[in-house]
Parts: sequence; C-alpha cells; structure tokens
Amino acid sequence: MLAVENAHVTFPVAQTKKWPWSPPGIVRAVNGISFELAAGKTLGVVGESGCGKSTLIRAVAGLTPLEAGNVTLDGQPVDYHDRASMQRLRATMQMIFQDPIASLNPRMTIREIVTEPLTFFKPEMTPAGRQDAALAMLDRVGIPQAQANRFPHEFSGGQCQRIGIARALVAGPKVLLCDEPVSALDVSIQAQVVNLLKELQREMGLAIVFVAHDLGVVRHISDDVLVMYMGAPMERAPAPELVRAPRHPYAQALLSAVPVPDPSVRITPQMLEGDLPSPMDLPPGCLFESRCPKAMPKCRDARPPMIGQGQHQAACLLLQDALAEASMPAE
Ligand code: SF4
Repeated sequence: MLAVENAHVTFPVAQTKKWPWSPPGIVRAVNGISFELAAGKTLGVVGESGCGKSTLIRAVAGLTPLEAGNVTLDGQPVDYHDRASMQRLRATMQMIFQDPIASLNPRMTIREIVTEPLTFFKPEMTPAGRQDAALAMLDRVGIPQAQANRFPHEFSGGQCQRIGIARALVAGPKVLLCDEPVSALDVSIQAQVVNLLKELQREMGLAIVFVAHDLGVVRHISDDVLVMYMGAPMERAPAPELVRAPRHPYAQALLSAVPVPDPSVRITPQMLEGDLPSPMDLPPGCLFESRCPKAMPKCRDARPPMIGQGQHQAACLLLQDALAEASMPAE
C-alpha cells in the first residue's frame, strides 16, 4: 500500500551564516529511510525527540519537501509537484496530529470539521448524505451525535483526538499517518485511543504509520517497528522480535527504559553517555558511535548498512561481524 525508498529531507538554517553572502547551513533531518507497508498492517516508528520521525511522515504526506527518494502509494508513484497526483494522495492518505486541540479549527463546529473532507473528496454525495456520514463517523469514534454542534474547546484532549480521527477517516482513506497521536494524552486515554485505532484498522483495512517516542505504546499497536536515530534507520523488525531480542545497541537502550507494570520487576535503564552528533555535520561512520557503549575504532570509518536475516535488520558492525562469523565454514 505504501512504499518509501531512500527518503532524504534537509532544511537550510540561515542563522548559521557568518556573513550575509555565506551559504546557509544544512540540517540533515532524514537520512535514507526506506520501508514498505501492506494494507491492514501498522509500522511503528520510534526514536528520541528530534530524530526525524515526524519529519519523515510529514514528507511522505507532502507537508515538507522530500530532497530525495521515492514514494509509491497503492502501486502508483507519487509526484509531489503534480496536482492530480497530490489530489489522489490526499484522498488516499490522511494524517492525525500530535496536538489534538490545535489540529482542529476553533471556529468550526465538530459537525462542520468532520463534514469538510467529504466536501472535497466525495463531491458526488448530497449535503444530507455528507451530514449523515459525518454524524455516523462521530458516533463510531465515541462522540455522541447530540454534541455535534459544539466547538472543539468544549471537548477534552482525548475527545478532540477522537474528532481528529473521525475527520481523518470519514472519507475512507487507505493509509493513516499518526504523528505522536497519544503523547499529549493521559495514560488511560492513550490506551483508549490506541484501541480505537486498532478497531478502525480492522474494520477499514487501514495501513497505519504510527510515530511515537514511547516504545511501550508502539509495540502494542505495531506489526513492524522501525527505530530511527539522527534521521537514519538503526533497526527494523517485527514488533515481538524487536522486543524479545533487539540487535542494535540503541534499540537495546530504548527498550531497557520501557516501564514494566509489575512492582516486583526491577528496571535498570541503560544510560547513554556522550553527545549527539550535529545534524549539520554528520560523521562519516556510525551515527550512534559517540554514545554507543559497544563502539569500536572501526565504527568511525564507514556508516554500517542495514543488514540481517529475514525481516529483522539492523545497522551495526557487531551484527555484521556476527553474521560473517556464522557464515564461515567450521575448521
Ligand atoms: Fe555501536 Fe559500532 Fe554498532 Fe555503531 S556500529 S551501534 S558504534 S557497535
């Protein structure tokens, strides 16, 4: 349903100009991300704040320009400069945003907010048909139809996120991009929203990209997980396998910090020391080298590629060495 190949996103930074005529610096926010996603499946994208995961899905949605890379949606390449291609993308792919209240127009009732996408994407529907479809969608996400004439500020954060989900899904998209949709909500509300998304995915066969910095939430909803660091892929694996046996030291550190809801279990999060490299001056070697507890001198020389067996892949020289050792004939 969705394939992203070698995506790169950069931003010019004018503040770093020494002189008015100096060229602006370049922040490399996304560095060579590739993934494929089938209908009815969820890809979780995790990493620390600032690792480029939101930028990645904003670029896929066409909200931020891709510097390089290809996106294929439902078997057809996306041309972000072509109006017809963008209309098809908007009808097929929708997005849920991190701040549920800021993502809704405060001057529109929630009935108008949820009806608006139908005006664009289903012009063949009658106005009465659109109203009925919007009310049914609000009902489906747990907002009573009697409240349809209220404004967003009259709802809680969790309810606003449900309205955002209704707006995204009312016109029947096939792909849903979720940009940290539960990070602004209480833990109990997070579970409700995640379960609602899973139910809707089953009913509508949605392909979902779910971005979060909380690996605990991501592993609950995802079929596959992609771990990002400094805009680059560090590890990709089916969610249960990544949780059971993470191979990249960064994924291991992230997992060690996930809380376990059992007071008898002692958690000792792995603390990462060292500084992050500057996104304006990325090192030629492994991007995680400055913080990696297992770093070796050769890690500074060249960036490790994503390698592995089957669907479990990681970008680490330790894994490369282990695979080379395993493939050597016994003496
Ligand atoms: Fe650590 Fe080296 Fe693996 Fe990078 S390649 S994660 S520095 S061991």
